[in-house]
Amino acid sequence: MAITRRDFIETVFYSGGVMLMTACSRAEQPVEHEDDWLPAYMKLEEEGKFAARIEQANSAFEACDLCPRRCGANRARGFTGYCRAPDKPVVFSHHPHFGEETPLVGRQGSGTIFFSNCNLRCVFCQNYPIAHEGRGQEVSIDALAEMMLHLQRTGCRNINLVTPTHVMPNILSATRVAMQKGLRIPLCYNTGGYERKVNIELLDGIVDIYLPDLKYMDGKQASRYSSDAEDYPEMAQSAIIEMNRQVGALVTDSQGNALRGLMVRHLVMPNRIAGTKEFITWVAENLSKDTYVNIMSQYRVEHRAFEYPPIARAITADEFLEAMDWAEEAGLTNLDDRSVAQRGVFMRRRS
Ligand code: SF4
Repeated sequence: MAITRRDFIETVFYSGGVMLMTACSRAEQPVEHEDDWLPAYMKLEEEGKFAARIEQANSAFEACDLCPRRCGANRARGFTGYCRAPDKPVVFSHHPHFGEETPLVGRQGSGTIFFSNCNLRCVFCQNYPIAHEGRGQEVSIDALAEMMLHLQRTGCRNINLVTPTHVMPNILSATRVAMQKGLRIPLCYNTGGYERKVNIELLDGIVDIYLPDLKYMDGKQASRYSSDAEDYPEMAQSAIIEMNRQVGALVTDSQGNALRGLMVRHLVMPNRIAGTKEFITWVAENLSKDTYVNIMSQYRVEHRAFEYPPIARAITADEFLEAMDWAEEAGLTNLDDRSVAQRGVFMRRRS
């Protein structure tokens, strides 16, 4: 649902939004000495550690354990695992993206690279031709590096790597090539959250911005709707705690562009399938109350979702409003501005 500027302003004044905006004011702080700021991967290179980290990551292709499915497929020899991804990166598109969170978009868009294939394969996937069918084009490491440089030249303030888990080693290789040719903007690791903590540890000192989903809090729901990924909640939570340890709360430059930090997404689903209240409690108790959290309202019945009655409809206004009430009650102080605006729109339409 599009939210106009008028919607937003009316929301603030007509529905208690002033109080909400105060309660949920943005906590990210501009970084001091931003002219001296360098992406994490440059510091790792200066320490002489980047190449070894890439070699370690690439070894996973011989018996793939890049995600919790741990298929063991020898992708280096042409075998594929659950995600069906080869050992070369397959890219569907790369372009500035203006639909991401405001600190990522800036004035020129977030420099997004959409990778094909996915290790989760949700029944409600909104990108199933890309994620399930693997549509896209296999590219070389040099070509992937050139995409990153092109996005930087276009004015994007980050490289937003969408569905990166199964191509993480390729991303590291391409980042180093691009860095040697002048890449100087942060990597944003935009993941569905089905990660192994040990692989997130490999990214320490390389990734500056983590953008994980936390989709479910109940393994049975994860199993039903995301292809038997029953261990999703524990895997995602463990990975996100590690991400938070590495980068902490969001830091921006003086223009509000994200430089470093954790931003967590959670899609509200019909009939409380996503465990939104438990998600909010978990964030408050395990991360920090100033964690950037995007509570998303845009669930749609896509792909095979119509075969599953509990998720075969959009969410209601009440389902989104209760989520935002829980966030407020839990004391979360750094909610995405569109979540706040959407709350106001729903409240105004209900009144
Ligand atoms: S990344 Fe793909 S091949 Fe590797 S363990 Fe996960 S699903 Fe299996």
